[in-house]
Amino acid sequence: MIKIRINQDVKDAVDEHWKWIKRRFYIDVDYSSLNGSQKRAWTCAHKKLNKLYSLLGFMSLPSKDRENALHDLICVPPQDLKAFRDDGRFTQLVKKETAAYKAYQNWKRRKKRRVGGGKVPKCHQKEYDAEKDRNSVVSILGYEDLYEGDVDWDAYKLCDKIGLLVCPYCNRQYIYTIFDKNGCGEVRPQLDHFYVKSKYPYLSCSFYNLIPSCPVCNLGKNDESDETIYPYESEFGRNAVFRLDPVDLQNLRNGKIDLKKSYFVSIEFEYSDSEKLNKKLNVYPNLDIPDFENQVRNSDRIFHLTDLYNKHQIEIKELMSRQIKYAGACLGNFSSFIYGKKYNELSPTEQADLKQYVLGLPVLFRNEEYPLRKLKEDLVDQFENG
Ligand SMILES: [Zn+2]
Repeated sequence: MIKIRINQDVKDAVDEHWKWIKRRFYIDVDYSSLNGSQKRAWTCAHKKLNKLYSLLGFMSLPSKDRENALHDLICVPPQDLKAFRDDGRFTQLVKKETAAYKAYQNWKRRKKRRVGGGKVPKCHQKEYDAEKDRNSVVSILGYEDLYEGDVDWDAYKLCDKIGLLVCPYCNRQYIYTIFDKNGCGEVRPQLDHFYVKSKYPYLSCSFYNLIPSCPVCNLGKNDESDETIYPYESEFGRNAVFRLDPVDLQNLRNGKIDLKKSYFVSIEFEYSDSEKLNKKLNVYPNLDIPDFENQVRNSDRIFHLTDLYNKHQIEIKELMSRQIKYAGACLGNFSSFIYGKKYNELSPTEQADLKQYVLGLPVLFRNEEYPLRKLKEDLVDQFENG
């Protein structure tokens, strides 16, 4: 729900990620310059690379173009990721939930079989081979090898370089990365495959398909969850906002707050009438509104956003109490106390800062993400302008 900004660090991370892939496969490494064990490693890596090229359908390309095709797959930019997902070159690798696939899965469950073990009945051979190919692509591309990586690049460094502070899916939890004194990763966010690797194995190591996220959100996603908001491209923003019930809001505006009661929020879309729609479309000319609304609803359902936010009663009530008690008539007193001036003598920046102080929201780090930032900003906005 919170967009990941693509700054220079993120762009550098893409470069580092590609360099890691190149190192793994000894791409651009001169064989004759290597010693004995390195030569064996080179041969082994190139054998795997050729198998990968073959599975991805790159073998028919001239040798140099295969590397470029792999680069394009690993570094595919966010705006092209969906097109790569649907690229006809990889159709045979997409897991399809056909009747034959389900029958194969049932057989596997009954037999407690794993891919690679024992004889497979002829009727399941095609599905078995397809699954084997999907697993091979994931395994050779090496997403799991990224956990440990090498000296220069691993999942910890990737997360650290992207530099997200808060889970982009839920905006509820901090997702810090921590290293020990030797620079080894100790704590990091989980990496969610936006397009799941079991279904789209060829995207399993593509940089912009790896979303640092909290464990709750990563675990909550499944095969069907690929139509949520894609954090490298979009966010709830001002279009999908958390709103209190109008009756509760009216009571709060009248200064009545019952701390024993629950104040529930729901998601609303800002452009519910045609006038607003036109306005929003002018502001966001590339935003496909029906698709956006579906993606928001899917995100809400899959990550349980509304239900989880409604558990945050302490934060909601604390914020609303401050809004009622301090952010109205009392601002004058705070202004005299903090600035030694009347409220209407403050500059617009000072007035905005003062409001943040009394609401308990960040003043010095206003541009940084923090948990529940969107919920809090939406509720303050609703109270003041809604
Ligand atoms: Zn999360």
